[in-house]
Amino acid sequence: MIRVGIGYDSHRFAPPGPMILGGVSIPAAVHLDGHSDGDAIAHALTDAVLGAMGAGDIGQLFPDSNPKNKGRNSIEMLRLAVERVNASGWRVSQVDIVVVTEEPKIGPHREAMSRELARALGVKEGDVSIKGKTNEKMGWIGRGEGLGCMVVATITNE
Ligand code: MG
Repeated sequence: MIRVGIGYDSHRFAPPGPMILGGVSIPAAVHLDGHSDGDAIAHALTDAVLGAMGAGDIGQLFPDSNPKNKGRNSIEMLRLAVERVNASGWRVSQVDIVVVTEEPKIGPHREAMSRELARALGVKEGDVSIKGKTNEKMGWIGRGEGLGCMVVATITNE
């Protein structure tokens, strides 16, 4: 059987850099503001993987109210979500990611992100697709206030 999950996340930019995104530290003047390290790709992925299982969401698993989650490494949270999926006899088969932002450009970091995310998900690098899009200077993303990320993940028990 195959199941599909969707995830979305957004974070506001705040100085200083670097920016942690897709498990990679990117040289930038701003970081992603948040309770954890703000890694929106890892958060959207975690929600997509949990969603495919019908296993709740990242906020239920790692509540902001728990001081343990402050500044937490988001790849570690993703790993724990994948472990939960694996413990139920399922595995991630592939993920497709869209990052919407004016800056930074995703292309130069795509390979490093795929490598980090593939390791956390237990898939091959080729099974992690990452696409960068701008918002054509429209709205909050266009004004450079932050970035948004959408993910679709498929899991299988075959
Ligand atoms: Mg988040």
